[in-house]
Amino acid sequence: MFPDFFVDHNTIRQRISEIQPSSYASTRNHLQGTVTYLGPFITHGVIDTTAVAEALLERHTGRTAEKLLTELAWREYFHRVWQAYRDGIFADLRHPQENVISDQIPEAIGNAETGITTVDDCLSALMTHGYMHNHARMWLAAITCNVGRTHWYQPARWLYYHLLDGDIASNTLSWQWVCGSFSHRKYYANQDNLNRYAHKPQGGTFLDKAYDELPTMAVPEALLKRGTLTYVNQFPASTAKPVHATDAKVLLHSLWNLDPMWRHGDTGRRILWIEPSMHTEFALSPLRWRFIEHWAKQIAGLEIFVGEKEALFPQGTENINVISREYPSIEHWPTDSKGQRDPRRWCYPEPEGPIRSFSSYWKPIRKSSELFRNT
Ligand SMILES: Cc1cc2nc3c(=O)[nH]c(=O)nc-3n(C[C@H](O)[C@H](O)[C@H](O)COP(=O)(O)OP(=O)(O)OC[C@H]3O[C@@H](n4cnc5c(N)ncnc54)[C@H](O)[C@@H]3O)c2cc1C
Repeated sequence: MFPDFFVDHNTIRQRISEIQPSSYASTRNHLQGTVTYLGPFITHGVIDTTAVAEALLERHTGRTAEKLLTELAWREYFHRVWQAYRDGIFADLRHPQENVISDQIPEAIGNAETGITTVDDCLSALMTHGYMHNHARMWLAAITCNVGRTHWYQPARWLYYHLLDGDIASNTLSWQWVCGSFSHRKYYANQDNLNRYAHKPQGGTFLDKAYDELPTMAVPEALLKRGTLTYVNQFPASTAKPVHATDAKVLLHSLWNLDPMWRHGDTGRRILWIEPSMHTEFALSPLRWRFIEHWAKQIAGLEIFVGEKEALFPQGTENINVISREYPSIEHWPTDSKGQRDPRRWCYPEPEGPIRSFSSYWKPIRKSSELFRNT
């Protein structure tokens, strides 16, 4: 159903070389469309957006690859917003979400029993395989927030937990985009839309309505019962000893930087640092932790340390040269001897804004780029 995510780097490269961007553009919105399934690898830095774009442009013109290049820009846009607002993205960003009756996720979502067959099938697949198609994510968020009138925050945590590609910026801001707190209006999809893009016709559901009926309908019976959720982090085992005063240099990977080429050939201890406290609010599913461990094992010499800062950096290690790569959630990590971190690679390094909307961000990039000229 979905490709295997527990593969090796050659397989990822092979998959990228086989992307057909014109087919992607015409079928992306269909559940069976030819999407790339690269999300988990991009989220964890196994590959980055630049590598995907470069590989695409070796074989295709910018015009042909435009749709996929634009989607990669959506990811970068959300990360620019996160860089600008920091923890501000965890609250309603532009407008208060309207018409909320509960903060808690409907039980039917967690049990994959909404009665909408397409959504229930996608929910079951998510909980087993850790992947959900973009359109299904939009339906899920629209049903939960706009039809079920739930505040977006708890459902977003729940989806983040189950996805292999759960990404703080893309997930948080997409939920806010669907529920209207980071967009001009709420997104709705009716049963006709689901039937068209899932190719699984169903009628007589609570979504089987005209579009103008959806915003004013009562919360369907199936979504009324709410549940509180518990999350379990099954961290991998530590294989690394704490940093020692005699360690000359430490290359510190975060789980967002599982890039085997990062500082390739550099000497020094190489440690993947997993800080349990970072995953209390935003936990990761057991499958996700297995996925992280799988990709960590593919980085030569990488040790794993699970523990808090004082355990990894005991007294006397304050002056160690610690090298890491920029990411918003690791700002409290030690830095190198000049107080710096390696920058991330961006597909679109400039501009860093404006970030008031995706179109205001993307238009100038598209206009100035040679890639999208007609020739
Ligand atoms: C409610 C909701 C929650 C989401 N949560 C996440 C999340 O936690 N992590 C995440 O990476 N994406 C998230 N997305 C965006 C999008 O759904 C996924 O990036 C995409 O489905 C991943 O599958 P793919 O790799 O096959 O995508 P493809 O369509 O093949 O796209 C290739 C890559 O482009 C990027 N991309 C594509 N579409 C988007 C988009 N709309 N926004 C941001 N980046 C995009 C991703 O890095 C993706 O891997 C969410 C969308 C919604 C509506």
